Amino acid sequence: MFFDPVSLVPVGPWWSVLVQAIGIYLLVDFISGILHWSEDRYGSETTPLFGNAIKKNILHHHRPRHITRITLWDAMGTTAFIALGIFAVGTLLGLFGWQLLLLSLLGMNVNTVHRWAHSTPRDLHWMIRALQKARVIQTPQHHALHHGLPRVTHYCAFTNWMNPVLERLRFWRGAERCIATLTGIHPREDDSLPGSGPTPQWVLELDQKFKPSARERRAAEA
Ligand SMILES: [Zn+2]
Ligand SMILES: [Zn+2]
Repeated sequence: MFFDPVSLVPVGPWWSVLVQAIGIYLLVDFISGILHWSEDRYGSETTPLFGNAIKKNILHHHRPRHITRITLWDAMGTTAFIALGIFAVGTLLGLFGWQLLLLSLLGMNVNTVHRWAHSTPRDLHWMIRALQKARVIQTPQHHALHHGLPRVTHYCAFTNWMNPVLERLRFWRGAERCIATLTGIHPREDDSLPGSGPTPQWVLELDQKFKPSARERRAAEA
């Protein structure tokens, strides 16, 4: 049976359940990093299937606060569909259970946590600020490391815990070297970096609708 509700109840010693839950929490962070890195570094707005997601990442690098000006569904829709897809595939593979449910529920909220990392603290509920302060979810200060120059580090967007490990291992540069060696494909240049040319016209057109902050405008003019 694909859906055995009994498997939604964790069984076994409490420490085993806790270790599994922490592992799933860190796995969600790692998966968020893999997806974010692949969208930031490969493909383009016209890539079949993934073009739209890549375009959102390009916009996010040009206008980091845009994510706070759209509806919650617009911000989390893509991650919600990915999480549902993982849940469906996992279920078909016979992995239905509390672990898969937890992975999907946490995964569904990665971009919501990311949005909170870009929000002004006074706009957030005190419980969200408390979760950030307790380092349960990613803090704005930690996420700012990804948006600093040259924007090729700290891709995990859910917690503060996986990024330091992956950066120490030089994981992303290693993965890029492997891909370049095996396929000859090199990472895409980030067109939001200072000196990399004019801001794309479609970003400027969006500015008419969503006013960028003075800080974002200064960064675009740099
Ligand atoms: Zn990025
Ligand atoms: Zn961001």
